[in-house]
Amino acid sequence: MYAPLAHEHHPYQHVDHPADAAAAAVDLVKVYGKGETQVRALDGVSVTFARARFTAIMGPSGSGKSTLMHCLAGLDRPTAGQALLAGTDLAGRSERELTRIRREQIGFVFQAFNLLPQLTAERNITLPLDLAGRRPDPELLRYLVTALGLAERLGHRPAELSGGQQQRVAIARALVSRPEVVFADEPTGNLDSRSGAQVLSVLREAVRELGQTVVMVTHDPGAAAHADRVVLLADGRVAGAIDRPDVASVTDALRRLAAGR
Ligand code: ADP
Repeated sequence: MYAPLAHEHHPYQHVDHPADAAAAAVDLVKVYGKGETQVRALDGVSVTFARARFTAIMGPSGSGKSTLMHCLAGLDRPTAGQALLAGTDLAGRSERELTRIRREQIGFVFQAFNLLPQLTAERNITLPLDLAGRRPDPELLRYLVTALGLAERLGHRPAELSGGQQQRVAIARALVSRPEVVFADEPTGNLDSRSGAQVLSVLREAVRELGQTVVMVTHDPGAAAHADRVVLLADGRVAGAIDRPDVASVTDALRRLAAGR
């Protein structure tokens, strides 16, 4: 599975060595609880997320999607195995180191936007960099603000913005630090279909135009169809992958998973 392939010859087979990938899990196990109530949320997951690709993680509810993303993003600690970010294992890092890694190397986009209500859109976008004592690249900031249609909204607070605009602020915030990976957790879950489609095309463009790596958890086949690749989970294991997904292929794969085939 980890034989490196030349991307030129296999443009849609994003199979990287885990150490070369933007993010990777190697035999990742996560067990919650103890004894009778123990849950094996991840049961030996090995998967790579290639650089400058848009990957969606899908699977039935409870299949381990959030747990996998949390382990890869340093928000949760695996029980066994490796969670690699740019080739570095997050296991064994102190809380302090994980906080720094999350701040400097990872961008997050959440279903609930998670903007600070008292700050303007602009301050929300630059906050993670401010906290890290870094200055935003002014050109990148200008590019993002324009590309995301936020130029007229920078002085607004979140309550003065629509859901779609708030999510675009959150995406600008995630992208402006040029993170190793952007992890998006159901980014369109709170949006109407038009704003959702806009957010997805923005994520896609970030991959195409900026070479950003994006990993998105979703249960919406329409959202997953925007990705380059879909990784399927079932019962805490990788159950398959779809390259160049479309709504039909994703819907069909999910139906088979639900039916246990
Ligand atoms: P998904 O995101 O695919 O719905 P999750 O990763 O949230 O799946 O959950 C996988 C399994 O782990 C589920 O059985 C869930 O109940 C369990 N689980 C997740 N988080 C916790 C937790 N903090 N404590 C106990 N069990 C958990």
